[in-house]
Amino acid sequence: MRILVTGGAGFIGSHLTDRLLTAGHEVICLDNFYTGDKRNILKWLDHPYFELIRHDITEPIRLEVDQIYHLACPASPVHYQYNPVKTVKTNVMGTLNMLGLAKRVKARFLLASTSEVYGDPEVHPQTEEYWGNVNPIGLRSCYDEGKRIAETLSFDYHRQNNVDIRVARIFNTYGPRMLENDGRVVNNFIFQALRGIPLTVYGDGSQTRSFCYVSDLVEGLIGLMNGEHIGPVNLGNPDEYTILELAQTVQNLVNPDALIKFEPLPADDPRRRRPDITKAKSWLNWEPTVPLQQGLKLTIEDFRERMQREMKIPEKIPVNQ
Ligand code: NAD
Ligand code: UDP
Repeated sequence: MRILVTGGAGFIGSHLTDRLLTAGHEVICLDNFYTGDKRNILKWLDHPYFELIRHDITEPIRLEVDQIYHLACPASPVHYQYNPVKTVKTNVMGTLNMLGLAKRVKARFLLASTSEVYGDPEVHPQTEEYWGNVNPIGLRSCYDEGKRIAETLSFDYHRQNNVDIRVARIFNTYGPRMLENDGRVVNNFIFQALRGIPLTVYGDGSQTRSFCYVSDLVEGLIGLMNGEHIGPVNLGNPDEYTILELAQTVQNLVNPDALIKFEPLPADDPRRRRPDITKAKSWLNWEPTVPLQQGLKLTIEDFRERMQREMKIPEKIPVNQ
């Protein structure tokens, strides 16, 4: 199949691209490199089945494809709040453009939605039936309301134009290739521990999250895309940890001498989050297989290598004439 991955140079998109190309598909990667990085897809640049297009999805594009994985959107609070109007445009105009493309070429369309559609949830664990508790005017709303309208658009294109959709609600996912500066908790803690600076726990660290390793998530996305159910389907690891527990786990794995410091909790920070994955289990026969300790070790290895590479001093230091 010829498959379009929007946001293909990003964290999840590049792991998905690896998996699709390895399975023998053609992949077109569309990215504006806002948070994506060419290094994530470097190994595929000369591959005959791989095509990279620098493009902003808020502008329409004409392509011929069989499936569309629509992932383009900054995912970390630091990046999606940097230019919130652009985040809304990416979710609204970008998703409209990609759904329009799916309609024109009759491609199957998968939306990478998020557990943020549940906001600060009053139902725990979160099932797909729960409508959420989202602040429509808060700092996170460009992202969580943006994704909610992206879901609405997907379902309206399905009902009105018969577009073949799939909607995944992705819970916190982590793994190799996450950016050092994007402020998400797993990468923050690991980089802080590796650099020997204190781990920054926001609030008292009693808020919870459930962390899914990226290879598990990618399997879930592919299972959803190629299955019969349109969703929405929760994809995440139901093992729930407090943020303080996560900090202590990273501390133990990287540097038991690392300090933990407490900083103010950001506005509208959800207090707890854990997916109910009953639907994913029965519809997709999917559940995560990588436990937190194992996933963290793989992630730490990648971050350590990247740091070592960055610190490498060139053999000949260029001299400015
Ligand atoms: P990421 O920031 O690494 O990847 C997003 C990619 O989209 C980047 O390559 C970026 O350059 C690209 N992009 C952003 N705006 C664009 C635009 N206007 N046009 C073209 N490209 C654009 O984030 P990620 O963690 O890989 O997330 C991928 C998707 O999964 C996102 O849609 C995100 O909302 C969703 N998601 C991720 C998580 C998670 O925990 N990682 C959780 C829930 C949902
Ligand atoms: N967090 C933290 N320290 C950090 C970064 C994040 O304590 O250095 C907390 C944050 O307040 C939130 C949780 O970790 O409660 C997860 O944050 P992240 O930004 O990774 O994801 P999201 O809030 O979008 O689930």
